[in-house]
Amino acid sequence: MEATAPDRDTVRKLSELRLDRPVVLSLYLDLNPTEFATPPARATAVRSLLDDAERKVKERHTLPHGDRMALEASLRRARSFLERRLPTDAAHAVAVFASEPVDLFAALKLPRSVRNRVAIARSPLVGPLARLERTERWCVALVSRRDARIFRGSPDGLREIGQIHDTVFGQHDQGGWSQARYQRGIEKEKADHLKHTADALLRHYKRRPFQRLVTGGPREVVADFESKLHGYLKERLVGRIEVDVDTATPDQVLQAAQPRFDELERERESEALERLGERGACGPAEVLWALNERRVETLLLDEQFSAPGRQCPECGWLGPAEEGRCPVDGTELILLEDLTDAAIEVAVQQSAGLLAVRHDRDALRGYGGIAAVLRF
Ligand SMILES: [Zn+2]
Repeated sequence: MEATAPDRDTVRKLSELRLDRPVVLSLYLDLNPTEFATPPARATAVRSLLDDAERKVKERHTLPHGDRMALEASLRRARSFLERRLPTDAAHAVAVFASEPVDLFAALKLPRSVRNRVAIARSPLVGPLARLERTERWCVALVSRRDARIFRGSPDGLREIGQIHDTVFGQHDQGGWSQARYQRGIEKEKADHLKHTADALLRHYKRRPFQRLVTGGPREVVADFESKLHGYLKERLVGRIEVDVDTATPDQVLQAAQPRFDELERERESEALERLGERGACGPAEVLWALNERRVETLLLDEQFSAPGRQCPECGWLGPAEEGRCPVDGTELILLEDLTDAAIEVAVQQSAGLLAVRHDRDALRGYGGIAAVLRF
């Protein structure tokens, strides 16, 4: 299991699962390394989460026998995973989704800390997952005269996925060549290597597309490399970093690219906030209305947004805490202490993007911490 931000496909697939009975168990375990670095600390955290889950399953004693059995089986499977196969590296949290009747068992390592949660519902609790989702996929390409290294990931972490070594004439190859011919040979080899790398990057892009490309390496080599990139890749180019191509670790590459990541995140935020003026819903009431109408293109949330609300267990309609019955089908609404996860879930179901506003929080605070850019 990789500790990468859950991608949109995973979140979508989970959010589309909707059973007719509440037999989906969702668990979130916080493994924040500052608190849970040692095995005993982790074991205690796992135990307390599983105790909570057991209590919640017992509370469902009004469910039919078969459903209770199914929940217990799901919990057993989650327990065995968390007690025996809990990843110990680099994960800041783990999410587990289990439902025996549909043979669902998914465990995801998460790159950022989340609060411990247990939920039993008709569908997986994807809100906390979607909040971590990075919508933009990044690629970093480091190039020198003879080597290239390709990294993929997001501002949460980079992973090296490929290397290219091309032979370039060294001193010992000089032989009887004239200096001029030798120089041309070296330049040709370098040009071939950069073209070769640019082609390999394009092939990789076609298999696994990314939105942003950062380059790095010696200045004159990188400039040359960028000029050889295919148009698709050129338009994704957002910056250049200076790192040692031979020795840089993924963490060092990430660190060098971080200022650019932050800058672009800020830009995305201000663009979205600007678009609210053209086609936006501002504040909880307007946003819930737009979510129910399936008109949300991007949901903007303050990182700390939280508000009570109500949801229809039949159709998913979301409303303010004062509502009693669903205006669509008359079903009695369920009270939610915090409607954030439900709102995110409904947003994901309508393929909306999600933007956790981290920089310009004041702009969103005027709207109660929640707003949405609308599709029409
Ligand atoms: Zn309803």
